[in-house]
Amino acid sequence: MKKIKGSCLCKSISFEIINECRYSILCHCTMCQKSNAEFSNYTKVQNNNFKFLSKKGLKWFLSSKKFKRGFCNNCGSSLFFQSRQFNHEIAVSTGSLNSKVPVKGHIYYKDKKSNLSFSNKHKKFMKSANGFFDNLIYKIK
Ligand SMILES: [Zn+2]
Repeated sequence: MKKIKGSCLCKSISFEIINECRYSILCHCTMCQKSNAEFSNYTKVQNNNFKFLSKKGLKWFLSSKKFKRGFCNNCGSSLFFQSRQFNHEIAVSTGSLNSKVPVKGHIYYKDKKSNLSFSNKHKKFMKSANGFFDNLIYKIK
């Protein structure tokens, strides 16, 4: 089975993505800036393609009325992002993965804080992408 493994820094939380996930996006929103870095890089995975191997220390922070962010209680790694209402899929920080998931674009580009310049190779959305990335499926090799 084709899979990508991932974990937090201390490995208390580990998981695998099976078969496929979404191409990743760079999110420049102000909440990601506080939680991760000047921008974050997430892929999304359907629940049936995602499996926790260990979730000791996994904590969820209710970051807004609609969303929550998952992190490791022990090492502080910021790992996940998920809807509080619809949990059929989970967004996973690509930095936690042991393999690359190609980037397809940017969201919340209007909030961009980094002074890095990005090529026009990747689509740039000023706010959310309104489902644009939903069907951009990356088949794990
Ligand atoms: Zn940890």
